[in-house]
Amino acid sequence: MKLELVDAKKWITLFVEKLESNQTTLNELDTAIGDGDHGTNMKRGAEAVTAAFEKKDPEALADLYKATAFAMIQKVGGASGPLYGTAFLDMSKAVKTDNLELADLIQIGTDGLKRRGESDTGMKTMIDVWQPVSDALKADKFDQSVIDSALENVKGLVATKGRASYLEEKSKGHIDPGAQSSAYLFESLIEVLGE
Ligand code: ADP
Ligand code: MG
Repeated sequence: MKLELVDAKKWITLFVEKLESNQTTLNELDTAIGDGDHGTNMKRGAEAVTAAFEKKDPEALADLYKATAFAMIQKVGGASGPLYGTAFLDMSKAVKTDNLELADLIQIGTDGLKRRGESDTGMKTMIDVWQPVSDALKADKFDQSVIDSALENVKGLVATKGRASYLEEKSKGHIDPGAQSSAYLFESLIEVLGE
């Protein structure tokens, strides 16, 4: 299964809408185990993505993911801006000549997160949503339950990367804010695939 330009644009546009309407939720999650700004950061990025698409409607997949990456890198800030930025930039590079299978595309984004964050699954970060989604796509078993289980799993983890790691054991029992914003990203994808 491949995502073509029109659907990929719908995907990112839905993500942007979810970030804008869930700013408070993301800030609250980050208040519990971080510094409370993840919603504000991502909202800034969402606005920048919208502005970039209005300025120049992306004409190719690579442009779409690149514009998304740049908006994230330039406007989100914090730890999450460069992370999302790297994931989307790597995805942009990967589709430059040919579109890819969705599973491969999401794995490339996930690998970008791991490289940039010097992190992996099990550290209570957004990677704990990206990797299960990528695995499920590979197995042709991607649906809402994959995201729900990933968030449930994240909740039980002790953070070993990012600000939440300062809390050590106390980070347990909370959903990681970046995992939740990534859940919005992939819930947006489900909406597009379900059309
Ligand atoms: P900051 O932590 O700088 O305030 P944000 O609040 O915007 O930045 O983003 C925090 C999120 O970034 C975390 O919830 C986590 O998912 C993600 N994150 C932080 N550090 C890493 C890392 N090294 N690898 C992967 N994800 C990370
Ligand atoms: Mg924060």
